[in-house]
Amino acid sequence: MRVIFLGPPGSGKGTQAKHMEKVFKIPQLSTGDLLRAAVKAESDLGQEAKGHMEAGRLVPDGLVISLILERMKESDCANGFMLDGFPRTTIQAETLEKALEKNQSPIDGVIEFLIDHEKLVERLVGRRICPKGHGEWHIKFHPPLKSNLCDTCGEKLEHRADDHEDRIVTRLKAYRDDTEPLCQFYRDKGLLNTLKAEGNIAEITAELEALISRLGA
Ligand code: AMP
Repeated sequence: MRVIFLGPPGSGKGTQAKHMEKVFKIPQLSTGDLLRAAVKAESDLGQEAKGHMEAGRLVPDGLVISLILERMKESDCANGFMLDGFPRTTIQAETLEKALEKNQSPIDGVIEFLIDHEKLVERLVGRRICPKGHGEWHIKFHPPLKSNLCDTCGEKLEHRADDHEDRIVTRLKAYRDDTEPLCQFYRDKGLLNTLKAEGNIAEITAELEALISRLGA
């Protein structure tokens, strides 16, 4: 099963994808996570991407496309994957489509996370993440048990460089200008599904699980 999660930063795609990994036994492929790992490793790609990411701008298409196409070749993707944060531009969507067509493994569906953009700034400014990938918390809405420490490993939580208000505004603009048009791109292909991503988290999770099950049926 190959599914795309489409939605603005802070809409809960990443958190939900991590949960669905366990339910559907397919990996979450997050270009944001892959790029942050490259930045941490100080690889050539990471060094090229760093400035764009910290400013809240999109990383050039060529870099992201080769990164994700390589990741998709790994064995854990044999039964499918959930794409989180990719594609983000029309060029990325078209390139993905061609690559999957070549392998005769098309996308089964796209899920658009619907959320009021006004709420996202507060969500993202207060977000804190575990540097070891154990998840994310929020200083007000979902605080960790011990102040600023990961509940799972006890590491100090991080405030992402791009989770500051000015950069969040830039990221939301990039979403509206470059990524939102993909909703129509996938609607025209009959692949778009929508999910209300506000309100009770357990209900959103249940709704998403049912939606993915229908896509795979
Ligand atoms: P995310 O974790 O998905 O919010 O991504 C963090 C940052 O990584 C974005 O603001 C971009 O700078 C970069 N990024 C992630 N995915 C992409 C993509 N598909 N295309 C371009 N830049 C991306």
